[in-house]
Amino acid sequence: MQDTFRHQGLRKRLVKELEDLNIKDKKVLEAIEKIPRHFFIDSTFEDNAYENKPFPIGRGQTISNPFTVAYQTALLELKKGDKVLEIGTGSGYQSAVLAELHADVYTIERHQPLSEKAKKVLDKFGYTNVHTFFGDGFKGLPEHAPFDKILITAAAPEIPKKLLQQLKVNGFIVIPLGEGERQQMLRIKRLDNNEYEKETFDYFTFVPMLKGIED
Ligand code: SAH
Repeated sequence: MQDTFRHQGLRKRLVKELEDLNIKDKKVLEAIEKIPRHFFIDSTFEDNAYENKPFPIGRGQTISNPFTVAYQTALLELKKGDKVLEIGTGSGYQSAVLAELHADVYTIERHQPLSEKAKKVLDKFGYTNVHTFFGDGFKGLPEHAPFDKILITAAAPEIPKKLLQQLKVNGFIVIPLGEGERQQMLRIKRLDNNEYEKETFDYFTFVPMLKGIED
């Protein structure tokens, strides 16, 4: 696969579209302009890769639409070197966006083939700051905790307690919460050991966050 001038032009147009949708974070927009999204999806969708749409990535899962990726990433307010846990590697695209923003990325996926495929494409880009894991995101990664930020990229039926415990004090989790057709984006900050503060944002539609693994 190649990244041509045509792809680059389509990315510029996508960034303009995201700006029109009120994405203001320049660093997030720069990352989206830089990363060839078409490398993260099946070549069948290559011509559509820079539309603001989700696409199937296998196992009944989807790559999130670019607006959702930009929105969640902006909410993370990343600082260089932030240790970030992502639940739901999927295609690996969101992990690449976090990596471009100089986060230290730990990403978990419950479908083994998706995890392996994402690892391959992320390795191809040479992201040494992305670590991929096959496992159940409800459990988090206690051996690598605590994290500055946790990003859930699937619809969570509840706020996973184990993940809250893996947050640093002053760290926060960005989570689309709900089991219905739409989920509300929440940002939950850990103020102290047992004290949390919740902020609410817009509604989105994600594939469900499910328990257990599938190989
Ligand atoms: N961030 C991804 C979005 C993929 S969709 C991207 O940029 O492409 C959400 C992903 O979350 C799916 O691949 C799904 O399999 C995964 N997922 C759902 N529940 C999970 C869990 N408990 N642990 C890990 N991954 C999970």
